[in-house]
Amino acid sequence: MEQITLGDVSITRVREYFGSVEMTPDTFFPESSKEVWETGAEWLAPHFLDSGSNHVKSAIQTWLLRSEGRTILVDTGVGNHKDRPYAPVWNRLETDFLADLARAGVRPEDVDVVINTHLHVDHVGWNTYLDGRQWVPTFPNATYLMPKADFDFWNPENGHEPLLGRGNQNVFEDSVAPVHRAGRTRLWEDSHRIDANLRLDAAPGHTPGSSVLTLTSGTDRAVFIGDMLHSPVQILEPDANSCFCEDPVEARATRRRVLGWAADNNALVIPAHLGGHGAVEVTREGSAFGIKGWAPFSPYTEQG
Ligand SMILES: [Zn+2]
Repeated sequence: MEQITLGDVSITRVREYFGSVEMTPDTFFPESSKEVWETGAEWLAPHFLDSGSNHVKSAIQTWLLRSEGRTILVDTGVGNHKDRPYAPVWNRLETDFLADLARAGVRPEDVDVVINTHLHVDHVGWNTYLDGRQWVPTFPNATYLMPKADFDFWNPENGHEPLLGRGNQNVFEDSVAPVHRAGRTRLWEDSHRIDANLRLDAAPGHTPGSSVLTLTSGTDRAVFIGDMLHSPVQILEPDANSCFCEDPVEARATRRRVLGWAADNNALVIPAHLGGHGAVEVTREGSAFGIKGWAPFSPYTEQG
């Protein structure tokens, strides 16, 4: 299990999945240019692109933080045994995620805080597990921090019609509501300070409640950006949204703002789904951004 330390905070990467998402770049990122993928073929493969099938590759992972003596999880993947009829790759998984978390030294009861950067299917899955016939909180002692704007947007009672359509089917019911009923959620708005090192801020666009977690400790800086970008191509072409961004205009503005802050503050950018080294340092390049370097995490292979 690999860990880096920034200031007083340790960061460990815990994988749930890595591989093809069975979507080509022009489906996943309809606004990205053909050239960026063609000229990038050499460095995008094998960590971000399967050049054989021309499918985008992606990781589902949880970032495990230890800060001020507390254990914090950022995003909780897809989860096991979840009914996902419109997403076959995520349907009724049976992964060893909790064993991997245990290898990182964390039992479910040890987790103090769970952060869902937003409430998409692949960010809330391990919020709950199936106990007999009931979904119950996986982390019984944790406070689950959820953006209120997403809680309201994805609550089926409110009748919104998301871009993702039925792609988020069942998710609120099996991974969000049971935690809320158990009294373990804290729905926050605008900004929420976790401790002296960590702060959550609203960063809407990808979803109405999408958020970023900023780490500031000593001279070190990092920003966990959830799904603000899925591929390093979106650093080079920051106006290229994923096909899952609810508000395209706001998603672009937020991506530019946060990448700009990261470039100006030497902050490590830590998206939810990057394969390869998992996190990246960026620099301003004209009206876009460039890749300055990668985090020291070892790249995943599909075998494990
Ligand atoms: Zn995601």
